[in-house]
Amino acid sequence: MTQLLQDKDRIFTNLFGHHDWRLEGAKQRGCWNATKDMLDQGRDWIIDEVKGSGLRGRGGAGFPTGLKWSFMPKEVGARPHYLVVNADESEPGTCKDREIMRHDPHHLIEGCLIASYSMRAHACYIYLRGEYVLERERLEAAILEAYEAKLIGDDNVHGWDFHVYIHHGAGAYICGEETALLESLEGKKGQPRLKPPFPANAGLYGCPTTVNNVESIAVVPTILRRGKEWFAGFGREGNTGTKIFSISGHVNAPCNIEEAMSIPLRTLIDSYAGGVRGGWDNLKAVIPGGSSVPLLPKEICDDVLMDFDALKEHKSGLGTAAVIVMDKSTDVVKAIARISYFYKHESCGQCTPCREGTGWMWRVLERMARGEADISEIDDLLDVAGQVEGHTICALGDAAAWPVQGLIRHFRHEIEERIENYRKGRPVFVQAPVAAE
Ligand code: NAD
Ligand code: SF4
Repeated sequence: MTQLLQDKDRIFTNLFGHHDWRLEGAKQRGCWNATKDMLDQGRDWIIDEVKGSGLRGRGGAGFPTGLKWSFMPKEVGARPHYLVVNADESEPGTCKDREIMRHDPHHLIEGCLIASYSMRAHACYIYLRGEYVLERERLEAAILEAYEAKLIGDDNVHGWDFHVYIHHGAGAYICGEETALLESLEGKKGQPRLKPPFPANAGLYGCPTTVNNVESIAVVPTILRRGKEWFAGFGREGNTGTKIFSISGHVNAPCNIEEAMSIPLRTLIDSYAGGVRGGWDNLKAVIPGGSSVPLLPKEICDDVLMDFDALKEHKSGLGTAAVIVMDKSTDVVKAIARISYFYKHESCGQCTPCREGTGWMWRVLERMARGEADISEIDDLLDVAGQVEGHTICALGDAAAWPVQGLIRHFRHEIEERIENYRKGRPVFVQAPVAAE
């Protein structure tokens, strides 16, 4: 039986309702404790600890965080270095960074200082999702507290002049893509740049920049305090640490929960989200990592582990670890059509396969949901998804293609059934009864 994570091993112990997010409460929970000692151990030590912990980016792509930091130039020349925190959390189903900023903002600010020091940055920008108003207020208040206590700012107690600025976005999903975010921060239209060059070479204002997700930065102080071995002790090789999972959809108690990586999906849902509505046998499918990753049918969900590599083996992904649960009452074709509409709406329109392909996939899926399509169009749809995937400037193209590919991989029979029903004048889709909560 899987051992659940104990409270003493949780990093974000203030996630749920304690309301002591202020500096005093944060300090009682260990924040800002001996931060100067950690900086005094040197930049190489900090980066080695982060590398050794196995931390992989928590924004969705899972790129090794310590490795990313090590790409920053070792000397500061004419171009200043920057840290940019991606707090534009917009992936459907994802609300974990929101919780950190609401309930544990000092973890993030302390992490910003440590990360910036290790990469020789004196300034950090937090790019905040447009809709996150309460989170902005909390962060602003916590940053002010940190300035007043001389934890950050000029001549602070840590001996590294350091400033944090919040930039409030305007609600565009594409501005969460790191280079579109940088464009937006520079005051331009938020459109992704071609990579390479990666931000470490040419980032904000053309200067060396590291862009990290909120959770990736906020876990760093605890990793340094408790040691890389402690963090690496959770999960399994290549997939270490603890992680916040956002569980939503047809569960009895939707929640955010910090657990060890590689926890079985079923244990996660049953132990924290009150189980699937109507019981596990009433499960139809799960999107395990936010809307950008393909859904998985129940047979795979029965024993899949929640980590980067296990989900990749099943042609899906951990993504943002936003677990969207669908029970048997779900119209899965309609659900993926709705996701397709989202990507069509959010495409920045820069590249043809994404601009044209997202709309095309959405329109065909809508017709398929009504049964008004030809069987041959299923393969056409697969073909178009393949033409979009991997042929665009940024990952939004892939994100639009993968859910469609997942639907056809696992639920082709449902589309075929509808087309057949429509042709024969039968009801196209009969919804299974909704189970009692
Ligand atoms: P990516 O794999 O292109 O890059 C991940 C990070 O690694 C980036 O910071 C990139 O600069 C860096 N990187 C990658 N290769 C590098 C190299 N060779 N040299 C130097 N740096 C390198 O992925 P991405 O486009 O940043 O992110 C895609 C993911 O974002 C999706 O899988 C999705 O899960 C996730 N996502 C998250 C949200 C959210 O709200 N958190 C929203 C949309 C998408
Ligand atoms: Fe814009 Fe889509 Fe191209 Fe990304 S893939 S740059 S969102 S058009």
